[in-house]
This record gives sequence, structure tokens and C-alpha cells, in this order.
Amino acid sequence: MKSNLAARLLRIIFGCYFIVTLVVTCVQLAAEYRHTQQRLDEEIGAMEHTFGPGITGALWRFNGEVLGSIVTGVKALPIVIGVKVEDEQGKLLRAIGTVNDGAGKRLEAGPDGALMAAPAPGMLFDRMFSRSFAAVYVDEAGERHPVGRWTVYSSQQVVVRQVAYGFFLILVNSVIKTLALWFIFLYVIKRTLGQPLRQMSDFVGQLNIDNIGDRHFVLKDKGKHELHQLTDKLNQMAGTLRKSVAENAALYAELKEMNRTLESQVAERTRELQRVASTDMLTGLHNRRKLDEVLGYEVERVHRYGGGLAVILLDIDHFKQTNDSYGHPAGDRVLAAVAAILRSGARSIDSVGRWGGEEFMVICPQTELLGAGALAEMLRLRIAAAEFPEVGRKTCSFGVAALGPDESLSSLVARADAALYRAKQNGRNAVEHDTIAQLL
Ligand code: GH3
Ligand code: MG
Ligand code: MG
Repeated sequence: MKSNLAARLLRIIFGCYFIVTLVVTCVQLAAEYRHTQQRLDEEIGAMEHTFGPGITGALWRFNGEVLGSIVTGVKALPIVIGVKVEDEQGKLLRAIGTVNDGAGKRLEAGPDGALMAAPAPGMLFDRMFSRSFAAVYVDEAGERHPVGRWTVYSSQQVVVRQVAYGFFLILVNSVIKTLALWFIFLYVIKRTLGQPLRQMSDFVGQLNIDNIGDRHFVLKDKGKHELHQLTDKLNQMAGTLRKSVAENAALYAELKEMNRTLESQVAERTRELQRVASTDMLTGLHNRRKLDEVLGYEVERVHRYGGGLAVILLDIDHFKQTNDSYGHPAGDRVLAAVAAILRSGARSIDSVGRWGGEEFMVICPQTELLGAGALAEMLRLRIAAAEFPEVGRKTCSFGVAALGPDESLSSLVARADAALYRAKQNGRNAVEHDTIAQLL
């Protein structure tokens, strides 16, 4: 960063200093100018006593030579730019330097005294001013004889010339003062402000999340001022930040751990919910929803990749009687016991579920009708052989069907249901295969 604070401060300070100096100098100059003009006026006024008698005498005696030398002497004064002498009737007798005619026109007297037009005055400080004196001769008897008048001309330029030197001194004085102060201020401000600020900025620039608060900033500057207070606050802030960073890190770790725990709890709960959503509460088997899902998936799989699929639908025989005779809870226990037999009897690739009420379904992937029929027969025998507490023996009727080419899911289930119906019709405790559709 190139633009530094010291230079900027200096620009502001010296900008103000320059404006103030300029205004003060102008006021000083104006006062000096006025004073000098007054002084010139007085000096010109004093000429009446110095040269008046000589000029009056020369006019009285018509002594052109004396008049000429006095007028030349007056003109030689540095404050005079021209002298004009006229007689009582206003006729020009002698002129030297720059003078005005009666109408105020600026004229220049040549070496022979002839008047010609003078160059036009400049815009600034070129205005002429004059003072006229009456030449009155007083004879021995004390009688007064006006013999003419003489006029002395000066110009603002004369004033300016006299003031110029003073102005030059003021200018040189101001320039030297400004330059000296500039360098002194620059050095002082850089040392007392720029340097400490740079140290501070370097320190802050090196701070990062890992090293914050490790190091204390030490201000290499004498005294005890605002920058020291800033340093204290900086160190204090670094310490506080360090604490916060550590606290945040601990909180973050804690949060991460909590998140992990929460995620595993959510996953666990999701699994549990999925299980509950697809499980029949009474028997622990798949519920109807899950059976529909598995059936849909399996039918789709066969249509896409081929392979067999068979379903076994079974219904407990005369279950109403069981309920009626032993009560609903006893019936529930029979349902659970039948479910256990089905689950243990079915193969691991089979899906066993409760189709509804006292009806169950076994879905047998990669299985042909005969294989499923054999499985159904085995299950039938196991159930029939089982001794249900309180209730004694129970039997089931089975309907088996295998998926035909391009057959729909509903058709498959309907055929299994039809086979089951036939088993019921044929006296129950039997396995019926739906072979008709297979033959078609
Ligand atoms: P079938 O041999 O023709 O199947 O005769 P069934 O009595 O088994 O058939 P029916 O359809 O007449 O009766 C079924 C009974 O199953 C009636 C109903 O109360 C009972 N049932 C259905 N669901 C449950 C259940 O969750 N628990 C109990 N305890 N009984 C149930
Ligand atoms: Mg039934
Ligand atoms: Mg029944």
C-alpha cells in the first residue's frame, strides 16, 4: 500500500497551512501597499517645500535653464515618473518623463521636451497619480504673484516596486518555513504514527485461526498514548478470539459427535419404522403391504429376466369355530403358531406373510409349480401334525399357482385363490394346484 497516512496528514495540514499563509500574506501585502502609497504621497507632498521655491523663482525670472535643471533633479527621484510645469494661463512650459495632458491622456516627453502619446497603461498597477503645486512668488513687499503651477507624477508601479522586495522576502520566508516544516512533520508523523501503525498492521496481517493469541503485540514506541491503548485492546481481542476459537472447535467436535449419534439413531429408527411398516404385528410375518411389494418386484423381475415364480395361498380351516370355542385370544395364538411353522418351513429365499384374517401367503421366487406344490404339501403336513395349546389340532387348505408367460400379478393371485377355493370345496386340509392356466 503506497499511500501512507503520514503523507495524507501532511497534505491536509500543509494544504490548510498554505491557504492560511496565502490569506495572511495577501492581507499583509495590501496593508504594506497602502502604507507605501501613503508614504509616497507624503514624500511627494514634501517636494513643495524642497523644490517649490526654486521652481517659483525660476518662473518669476523666466530662467529656463534653472527651471530645466530643477525639473530634471525632481524627475531623477526614484518615486517620480514625470514632471510638468505650466504658466499661469495653463501653457506648458516644461515636461519631462510621463505626464498627463489636461484631459488626463498619458503623454511621454521626448528629450527635447516635445510631448507624444505614451504607451497605453497595463491592466494592473499601472495607474498614474499626481500632485499639483501652485507657484506663487512673494516679492519683498510681501505681495503674492501667481506665476504658474507644477505637477509631479508617480505611478502605482513605483509603489509595487517598493513593496515587491518585502513581498519577495515574505515569499522566501514562507517557502523555507513550509519546506522545513514539511520535512520535520513528515519525519515526526512517520515515526510516531506511521511506524507503529505499520507494526500493528504487520502483526494483524500475520494473524490466522491457528496462531491467534499465541503472540502478544508489543508497541515499540515511548510514552503511553492512544496507540498503546489500541495495542492493549488488540491483544485483548486476540485473547478473546483465541478463547472463542477454542470454544467453537470444542462445540464443533461435540456437534459432530452429536450429529453422528443422531444420524445412527435416525438410521436405526428408520430401519425400525420400515420393519414395523412392513410387518404384521400379531405374527411377525410380512404384512399385506410388504407382500404386495415383494410380489410386484418378483413379477417384474420374471418378466424382465425370466425364471420362475410361484405363490402359495393358505387359509386356516374352520377358524371361526376356534374363535367361537376358545375365544379370540386363543385364535390369535393359533395364528402366531401357524405363522411360526410357515416361517421355519419355508426356504430362506421365500417370503412369508399374512395375506389377511387367517389367510397367509408364501412367495417362492425361482420356483416352478411342482416345487411350490411340494413345499405347500410339506407345510400342510407340518401344520396338521402340530399340537396347538388349548385348541389341539388345526388344518389348512392350500392353493398353489405359478406365473405364466406375460401373466399379471392380479391374475396369478386370483388363480392361487381359486385353487385354494377348490381345496376348501374338496374337503379342506389339502393342496390344490392351479394347473389350468399353466396348460393354457
Ligand atoms: P373356512 O374353513 O371356510 O375357512 O372357515 P372359517 O371359519 O375359517 O372361515 P370364515 O371366513 O367363516 O371365518 C374366518 C374367521 O377368522 C372369522 C374371523 O373372526 C377370524 N379371524 C380373522 N382374523 C382374525 C384375527 O386376527 N384373530 C382371530 N382370533 N380371529 C380372526
Ligand atoms: Mg378365510
Ligand atoms: Mg378359514
